[in-house]
Amino acid sequence: MFDLPLKGSCPDVSASGSALNVLGEFSPQSFRHKRVRECKIGSVTIGGDHPVAIQSMTLTDTRDARATLEQIHRLEEAGCEIIRVAVPDDEAAAALPEIKKNMRVPLVADIHFHYKLALKAIDAGVDKIRINPGNLGGEGRVKVVTQAAVDAGIAMRVGVNTGSLEKDIIDKYQGPTPMGMVESALRHVAWLEELGFTNLTVSLKASNVPRMIEAYTLFRERSDYPLHLGVTEAGPKFTGSIKSALGIGYLLHNGIGETLRVSLTADPVEEVKVAWEILKSLGLRTKGVNLVACPSCGRCEVDLLDLTARVEKAVEKIDKPLHIAVMGCVVNGPGEAREADLAVVGGKGKGLLMKDGKVVATLPEEELIPALLREADAYDVSQRPAGKARFVASA
Ligand code: SF4
Repeated sequence: MFDLPLKGSCPDVSASGSALNVLGEFSPQSFRHKRVRECKIGSVTIGGDHPVAIQSMTLTDTRDARATLEQIHRLEEAGCEIIRVAVPDDEAAAALPEIKKNMRVPLVADIHFHYKLALKAIDAGVDKIRINPGNLGGEGRVKVVTQAAVDAGIAMRVGVNTGSLEKDIIDKYQGPTPMGMVESALRHVAWLEELGFTNLTVSLKASNVPRMIEAYTLFRERSDYPLHLGVTEAGPKFTGSIKSALGIGYLLHNGIGETLRVSLTADPVEEVKVAWEILKSLGLRTKGVNLVACPSCGRCEVDLLDLTARVEKAVEKIDKPLHIAVMGCVVNGPGEAREADLAVVGGKGKGLLMKDGKVVATLPEEELIPALLREADAYDVSQRPAGKARFVASA
């Protein structure tokens, strides 16, 4: 047995200190927090024993309900579980009932500066509001909004960003430090608690990955409210995905975080895809195919990049939690594909189709993907051989 450093465990939150379960098998779930508070956001509950939920935010002008709903439906189809829209003015607030009525997942209204917009969003029936208490106009206004949220029975997120910390905190810490972010969040949580409001989540986002990791970790040491993870202003798809996977992934791997948003300067559907890959890679959720592929090398006798891209496209719509491998040659391919449910192994003009580590057919290259899809359709995940199921976490 070995112990992982469990940064951020708070005294009243128990967590196993080991990544090995009783059978000596690696199990990421074994060092998840056993308990943080729950937050109910419409039909989705986070915290407690609930799975880590994926969020995103629309890029459309919220005043245009039709365009916003079109993007919301694409996000829902991609597996987004909570969707936030910006509410910058009265017209956007007025569009919220129409948007809420025509979507499946919980709706969050994002409010900055104008507390009256928060009140209008609550009246419109949103499931949660995200406020940055630091820019809402002071304690009195935060409390008015909080009371309205209490009355409506909805959730709230206290969203602290390095870019909008209060002046007294910046002065005290001589800059937007992780400890300053934590103090800001705790101050606002205390205001909400004074009104008996506890159905909340907290975020402490920074664009600097080590800083956001430190802020979330410090907060978790002091509070057991559910955390909404994110690297803010992470950047375009490539760099933003890497920063998000590092920051969010590190925290989740250490048992910190109950919901997440990957922020990318890209189509928000890409955010949802990256979020799912982070959760799947850590074994925290399952959704569709977990595709692995060898990097190719001088032994490869097939155009592996093309074959992998075609397999990726072909399995995109499969919901079943399958582990599929694409390998470039028969030298190492079959051995490395052993852990996969299904695998294709390239060769010169032909290839192997494998199931549960055994070769089931040798086929011309053009027949590999159709045969793989037939096997995927027939594969019964409940009958997966013992020992492999441990790599697939529950949703
Ligand atoms: S499976 Fe074959 S082609 Fe792929 S990296 Fe390994 S040796 Fe190279």
